[in-house]
Amino acid sequence: MKQKLITILAALSTTICSAASFATQTQVIYAGSMLAGAGQTLEKQRTIVIEDAIITRIEKGYVSVTDLALPDAKIIDLKNQFVLPGLIDMHVHVTFERDASANPHRWITEYEADYALRSVKYLQRTLAAGFTSVRDLGSSYKVIFPLQRAVERGDIQGPRIFAAGDTITPTGGHADLHGYRKDISDVISGGLGVCDGADDCRRAVREVIKSGADVIKITATGGVLSNTAAGVNQQFTDQELTAIVDTAHNLARSVTAHAHGTSGIKAALRAGVDSIEHGSYLDKETVKLFKQHNAYLVPTLLAGQTVSQEVLSNPNMPVAIANKVRTVVPNVAASFKLALKNKVNIAFGTDSGVSRHGNNADEFLWLVKYGMTEKQAIMSATVNAAKLLGEQDRLGQLSVGKQADIISVNGSPLDDITTLQNVQFVMKAGQVYKHQL
Ligand SMILES: [Zn+2]
Repeated sequence: MKQKLITILAALSTTICSAASFATQTQVIYAGSMLAGAGQTLEKQRTIVIEDAIITRIEKGYVSVTDLALPDAKIIDLKNQFVLPGLIDMHVHVTFERDASANPHRWITEYEADYALRSVKYLQRTLAAGFTSVRDLGSSYKVIFPLQRAVERGDIQGPRIFAAGDTITPTGGHADLHGYRKDISDVISGGLGVCDGADDCRRAVREVIKSGADVIKITATGGVLSNTAAGVNQQFTDQELTAIVDTAHNLARSVTAHAHGTSGIKAALRAGVDSIEHGSYLDKETVKLFKQHNAYLVPTLLAGQTVSQEVLSNPNMPVAIANKVRTVVPNVAASFKLALKNKVNIAFGTDSGVSRHGNNADEFLWLVKYGMTEKQAIMSATVNAAKLLGEQDRLGQLSVGKQADIISVNGSPLDDITTLQNVQFVMKAGQVYKHQL
């Protein structure tokens, strides 16, 4: 018995030692070109030193490990690569992916574990696409927080997850359940975030935070993909919005509002939300409110493009949804251009889950097509996204002291944004997940 215990302890100590030695191995990257610092300045031939999960030095030229006095460091040769910070997607749903051929009622036949297990490959694809951090905006707390912890422990591979958990929505609002008999949806909706009236919405925000939320997601207006012909106007009252924002801010959480219709966007911004998702109908006054409140727009252009295609090919799309796609999506480009022209803060988000996980970089093509420079588009997914996350001291740029979230592509994305669709190298927190050279 005693012998058995000693064997177990010996095995444990071996595991711990090998994990520790992995974590402490110093790595040196030789970067042919890189985007450096908060300004994402183009620099050539740099040596990046990574100790544990952190960038500890960046030197000009390719400095040998001897000259660095790091003879045991592992060298990663990216001399023929363009190196940039790990990308950040501020709007994903990693627990599902739209699939026109799937059983539309599967969420009444499946358990949370079905969702979690399916998500493992979505997370892998997202990380392999160069997205080292994501913000999940609306997934059951029973699925997303276990996934978040599994990634943190290293049990599964995926981006760092910042998550909202259950969405705060009014009864019958965009994030409530639709399309079933009321007595059925009464039984299976039951999300933590359904609330009505200022007091009830304070309670819902507190419960969602208690369940683990890093950020609060609300549906300030109707949405396109809910099976209800309720339009896309304001759905929460001004009093409810104020109650939600004040409660969340007092509990140190930012609030992001799904919002399409102009009235709802304005009401959400006036209530003090930190960002607007989609923002399909912007006008001059909404732009002014964005700037007054220093709020961000997360445009999710890819989502609009994806569902516009689906309308053409999926005859089973419910009429209420198809009608909203046809009405709302054509306004998105003009609204985005208005925001861009007026220098509204813009952070990158795809609404992946609507589109395929792993295709997140397709959003860059639309951002550039609608008027962003390549550099602006990259900044929206790095420094800007990190700021909106409140993680600018840790994420979103290659500089000393930051997390070693580092990716590379063939060729310069400043000249050709499509290079970001083929990421060759992915490091997250100092650990290499992909190296295709
Ligand atoms: Zn979404």
